[in-house]
Amino acid sequence: MSPSSFSYVLQEVKPLTDYIYLHVLGEPLLHPQCEEILNICDANHMKVQLVTNGTFLKQYRLFKHPSVRKLSISLHSLDENPSIDLEDLYQTVLIYMDELQQDQYLELRFWRANTPSAKAEQFLAKLQNQFAFTDTKRNKSYQIKEHVYVAFADGFTWPDQNKDKVYTKGTCLGGIEQLAILVDGTVVPCCLDADGAIPFGNLFTSSLATILETKEYLDFVLALKENRLSAPLCQTCSYQTRFSK
Ligand code: SF4
Repeated sequence: MSPSSFSYVLQEVKPLTDYIYLHVLGEPLLHPQCEEILNICDANHMKVQLVTNGTFLKQYRLFKHPSVRKLSISLHSLDENPSIDLEDLYQTVLIYMDELQQDQYLELRFWRANTPSAKAEQFLAKLQNQFAFTDTKRNKSYQIKEHVYVAFADGFTWPDQNKDKVYTKGTCLGGIEQLAILVDGTVVPCCLDADGAIPFGNLFTSSLATILETKEYLDFVLALKENRLSAPLCQTCSYQTRFSK
């Protein structure tokens, strides 16, 4: 998304939220105008939460940017990035810990705890050697330093509406507490819907307020609130089982 399109989108979402994530699918730090986009967020007093695979961390000093509130590093995907040097990334993460400001947070994610990769296990062992893990009130989340957390979760199957439908009942936060806006302006319920399988409308042709009044949006949200998965994409999504009642 270009910075000018992003500025337009930001004006639309600003009345509804104080935080945005700069991703749907993919690595946000790969965007060639990443810094310009962070500057636009800062100028609009919008706080940013970033999820990164860590490849480009060294090229930025993200906690020095006033718009960045939280950085999550997906350490479970370390084995998918052969270019990442484990020791180098570990040292970079330590620098990030030192540069944290009072209102910033660092989350180290191990989101394939049931099938950990070799590199992820090595990284975790280094953390366990250096820090004490203090249990928090959040499920499988541990504090290792002020504002620094290690979060574990089991892996999930990425949804695909062309696959066999597995679930009919369930709920999640998609569309209720979060929305995703794709590069072409399509508004969808969550960042797992990268192909726009559940389109509520297009932000470049309708206002967000109008989109949030459409039958498509209202019916989708009502179903989730009633513990029903109405969209074929959701019926293949194991991520929503994290919210099972
Ligand atoms: S069930 Fe899965 S695909 Fe559907 S809104 Fe929730 S996270 Fe997205």
